[in-house]
Amino acid sequence: MPDYQLIKKELEGIAIEDNPALVRQKSRDFYWYSPILKAQLDNVTADIVVTPKTEEEVIRTLKVAYAHDVPVTPRGAGTGNYGQAMPLSGGIVLNLAAMNKIKEIHPGRVVCEPGIVIAELDRQTKAHSGQELRFHPSTAQTATIGGFIAGGSGGVGSITWGGLRDIGNILRLRVVTMEAEPRVLDLTGWDLTKVSHAYGTNGIITEIEMPLAPAYDWVDLLVAYDDFMDAVRFSDALAKCNGILVKEIAPIAAPIPYEYFTRHKPYIRQGQSIVALMIAPHSMDPFIAFTTQQKGEITFRSDKVESMKGIPHAYELAWNHTTLRAIKVDPTITYLQVQYPGPDHVAKVQKMVEIFGDEVPGHLEFIKFDGQIQCSGLPLVRYTSEDRLEEIIKIHQDHGCPIFNPHRYTLEEGGMKQTDTVQLAFKKETDPKGLLNPGKMIAWDNPDFDFKAGKNYLFPGLAALMEAS
Ligand SMILES: Cc1cc2nc3c(=O)[nH]c(=O)nc-3n(C[C@H](O)[C@H](O)[C@H](O)COP(=O)(O)OP(=O)(O)OC[C@H]3O[C@@H](n4cnc5c(N)ncnc54)[C@H](O)[C@@H]3O)c2cc1C
Repeated sequence: MPDYQLIKKELEGIAIEDNPALVRQKSRDFYWYSPILKAQLDNVTADIVVTPKTEEEVIRTLKVAYAHDVPVTPRGAGTGNYGQAMPLSGGIVLNLAAMNKIKEIHPGRVVCEPGIVIAELDRQTKAHSGQELRFHPSTAQTATIGGFIAGGSGGVGSITWGGLRDIGNILRLRVVTMEAEPRVLDLTGWDLTKVSHAYGTNGIITEIEMPLAPAYDWVDLLVAYDDFMDAVRFSDALAKCNGILVKEIAPIAAPIPYEYFTRHKPYIRQGQSIVALMIAPHSMDPFIAFTTQQKGEITFRSDKVESMKGIPHAYELAWNHTTLRAIKVDPTITYLQVQYPGPDHVAKVQKMVEIFGDEVPGHLEFIKFDGQIQCSGLPLVRYTSEDRLEEIIKIHQDHGCPIFNPHRYTLEEGGMKQTDTVQLAFKKETDPKGLLNPGKMIAWDNPDFDFKAGKNYLFPGLAALMEAS
């Protein structure tokens, strides 16, 4: 057991929290969306939370942790869904929330610290020069930019710009390594893939340079259809409409909107499927002409309501907010993350709707993927058992719809189903003792793990915690 009294002494001058209740609070994320992760991760907690204010304090913390062999799990706002920011081996949660300054704003780019909340970043760049991030997660009001890069994928704006995986959507990252003498590395170009979406397993991001796009007073809209597939076809046609500037297109199947979107209920009839949208103000006239032609019913416009007080942003009905709103009303619900590769993505969606009906109510996000319009999905699942969930996943895969499994906490099982050799090689260089966020990279913990054997990985430390509960 590390000597935390000594560690605290060595970290004197840096903010430290050791109250067990508060430490536990900062050791959680939104893992409980998954009944499977909830059972596995409920007892996970760190020993202390360290909140550095500067890169120099990050370096000091890592140096002390390295000397004492203490694991360090970075954390932004803890809005990740797969236990990414949960310290499976205890140790230190490194809370980056106090490193929240913007350093520079230029035409087309911003330089900032990792802990700034995304909506605040957009607010400042918009006030400075009418610019905003190209895209953001639907958790923009709470999530940090560092957590988005290390744990997220894409979001509101991905219909135009694609995702974080696309080269050019992150410009530069400054990263501190976990070594006896931590190094500071500046990464650009393809090197960025070493740390983006690596769950903080191979370096702490201390500075970020992101590209910006022109900011608009986006208009929120709901367009309703009686049939979900009509809503999907409308969304596909709109996404391919070159002249109308959109930031968000999310078709969501009945009964989700009427049953779970409580604040928008006055604008939705029972049985209606809706498309949640964000349209640039100067595109509203063509958008209305297009929607009329497509026989869509506009039931809500944020530029026409008397007051938006108490009404969430349209994007807070979309992405994983759809799931959140459903779980709030019916806690037995969970979800999946599905890809419907084009060009026949609409036919693939239709097939899944026919097979599952109301057991898997549809929710899609239209995005640009490798230059093509296609859709990914975060359908709800009326959860009955782990076996049935696995069966639903297999049926999707058998029909050419890959699943990014949100019921797994490791990098590999979540999506890739194989080792990311670039990230692993970088980890050997930057975290030789394997102290950064242990348990999240199978390739590091168990290089012989056989992904094809059909078994799920259980981090040994976690197995002990589960037995103890
Ligand atoms: C309702 C809801 C909606 C969501 N919608 C979206 C969406 O639209 N798109 C999307 O991509 N995600 C979405 N998410 C997931 C999550 O909110 C986002 O990815 C978010 O950007 C994570 O930011 P965070 O600050 O909360 O990160 P955290 O959850 O704190 O951390 C995420 C990961 O990054 C690591 N990390 C954090 N900071 C650093 C750092 N400075 N250096 C190195 N590693 C670090 C953590 O260890 C962890 O592994 C959603 C989640 C919820 C609950």
